Amino acid sequence: MEDILSDWEDRINFLSDHIEELESQLQYYQNLVAEKDTLINNLIRENNSLKAQGIVNEQPISIPTEPPQELQYEIAPQATVPPPNLHPPPVVGISPEIDSINAEIDMISSVPIDNVVSFDSGLRKRQCPQCGAQGFAIREVEDKSKLISYLPHRIYAKKRVCIKCRNEF
Ligand SMILES: [Zn+2]
Repeated sequence: MEDILSDWEDRINFLSDHIEELESQLQYYQNLVAEKDTLINNLIRENNSLKAQGIVNEQPISIPTEPPQELQYEIAPQATVPPPNLHPPPVVGISPEIDSINAEIDMISSVPIDNVVSFDSGLRKRQCPQCGAQGFAIREVEDKSKLISYLPHRIYAKKRVCIKCRNEF
């Protein structure tokens, strides 16, 4: 029984690290999207403001009648017609990997976690106090100088390392 618990604990620890990594990536992409949203809003505002000042030329861009020289090439009639693609590529979007990870997360959620492991660690903000870097720049490593528990297996305290300024915190 204890072996099974220990196995589960290992697996949960592994998955919780994995979740933390993914949350960090998620945060990174959310920040990226937010950044782009802000940029778009700023550009829209700027564009509206320029329109209001009459600076933006509303005339459509005129297209030259003569195509540029390098684009003039002859298209030879196609001798062979490629066979229809019977196996279209998979839809690009949410990768199956994420689905399987979601399944893993569901699995973890269904496991009673009374005193097994705390998931708080993944929710802590990963940001370097020295240079402000966050997300991918912050690696979590075991601090071998701080042994928390020896049995059933060695557990070390964790420390975070900023790969940008090498700050450890
Ligand atoms: Zn840093």
